[in-house]
Amino acid sequence: MELEQMDDAISKRIRAMNHRVAQIRQADMYFYNQPISELRGGARVLVDGREMGMFASYSYLGLVGHPRINAAAKEAIDRYGTGTHGVRTLAGSLVIHKQLEETIAAYKDTEAAVTYTSGYVTNLTVVSTLVGRGDYVISDKLNHASIVDGCLMSGAKFLRFNHNDMEALENRLQQAGSEASKLVIADAVFSMDGDVIDFPPLVALCRKYGAWLMVDEAHSVGILGKTGRGIEEHFGMKGAIDVKMGTLSKTIPSVGGYVAGKKEVIEYLRHASRAYIFSAALPPAQAAAAKAAFEVIQEEPWRVEKLRANAQQFIRGLQQRGFDTMKTETAIVPVLCGSDEAAFAMTRAAQKKDVFVLPVVSPAVPPGLSRLRATVTAAHEADEIEHAMDVIHEAGKSVGVL
Ligand SMILES: *Cc1c(COP(=O)(O)O)cnc(C)c1O
Repeated sequence: MELEQMDDAISKRIRAMNHRVAQIRQADMYFYNQPISELRGGARVLVDGREMGMFASYSYLGLVGHPRINAAAKEAIDRYGTGTHGVRTLAGSLVIHKQLEETIAAYKDTEAAVTYTSGYVTNLTVVSTLVGRGDYVISDKLNHASIVDGCLMSGAKFLRFNHNDMEALENRLQQAGSEASKLVIADAVFSMDGDVIDFPPLVALCRKYGAWLMVDEAHSVGILGKTGRGIEEHFGMKGAIDVKMGTLSKTIPSVGGYVAGKKEVIEYLRHASRAYIFSAALPPAQAAAAKAAFEVIQEEPWRVEKLRANAQQFIRGLQQRGFDTMKTETAIVPVLCGSDEAAFAMTRAAQKKDVFVLPVVSPAVPPGLSRLRATVTAAHEADEIEHAMDVIHEAGKSVGVL
C-alpha cells in the first residue's frame, strides 16, 4: 500500500500533518522532539552537543536528577526488579505502591489516594468512572486535553464554560438542573496560560448546586501554597475539593498520575476504574522515585520559596522588557508572539543563543495567540534568569514581536 497514491480520509489526514511538519522543518523552524543527551547540573542540559539553559521544563522544583530520588529508584530496582507481575488488582501491587499512595494522601491532606501510570490516563479513567450516561460533566474551556478526552469518553452530557468565568459556570449548573448528578472539573493552574482558577467562587457554586468538584493539580503541586501543597493551601480552603487529581511527571520527577480524596471514592476507583484494573502497575523505580520526591519537597522547603521568587523575577522582567505575559501568576510564563511563524522564529533566535524555550501554536492555543511558553524552576539562579530574559528580549526585537 503506497500512501502517496491513496486518497481516503486516513491517508489524507496523515499527509496533511506530515506536510505541515515538513514545511516547518524546511524553514529551519522545527524545535519539537529534540533529545536531551545529558543533565549538566542546575537547570542546564546538553542538547545536540550544546549546553543550554532549560526554560521549558515541568520539573518546577528542580528535582530531576536529585541524588536522593535517584538512589530511591535504584534501591527499588534491586528490591523489586524493573516491572511488576501485572495489574494492581491481581499480582501487580507492591508495598512501594501502598507506601506511595499513603505518602500522597498525607501530602494532599486526604484519607486515601490511588495511582495510575500517567496523568493523562488518570483523567481519562477517573472522569469516565465517576460519570456516565444521564450525568453532567462541566468543564472549563481551557482544561487540559486529558480532561476533555475523559469527558468525551464518559458518555455524560458534556458542558463547557468560558475560561475562568464563574457566571458562565453558574449558567451551566442551572442548565444541568437539580435532578442529575453533576461533576465540575477545572485545572488549578492552566497549563498554557499559567493563570489560576478563581477557586473560592468555584467551590461555593459547586456547594450551592450540589455538584462534585474535581481539580487537576498538574501545575499547582509544588507551586501554589506556602509549602507547595496546591490550591487549597493557596486559598486557605482545606477540604474544598472532592477529587484531587495530579501527575507524578512534573514537579514530581517520575511518571504516573494520582487521585486523592475520601476513602470511599478511592475504594470505588480501585474496583471500577478500567486503567487500574486492565493496565499494568507503575514500575517500582518510578513509584519509589515519586515517594522520595514528596519527602524531599517537605525536607527542602526552600525550593517552593525559590520557585516563587524566580517566577516573580521572570514575569516582571519580561513585562518590563515589553512582552505580554497574559494573566500568568505562576512559573508557566507565556510570551505572546501572535502568529505561529513569530513563535517559531522567536524559538529559533533564543535556541541559537542556548536558551531552551519552545513554541506553542494552534490548535493547542487559539489562532493568533501563539507564544513561547517559557517556564522557570527552583533550579535557576537569578543571573541565569536575567540572561535568558535578555536573550528573549533580543529575539523579540529581531523577530518584530516587540
Ligand atoms: C501534563 C498534564 C496532564 C497529564 O499528565 P501526564 O502525567 O504527563 O500524563 C494532565 N493534566 C494537566 C493539566 C497537565 O498539564
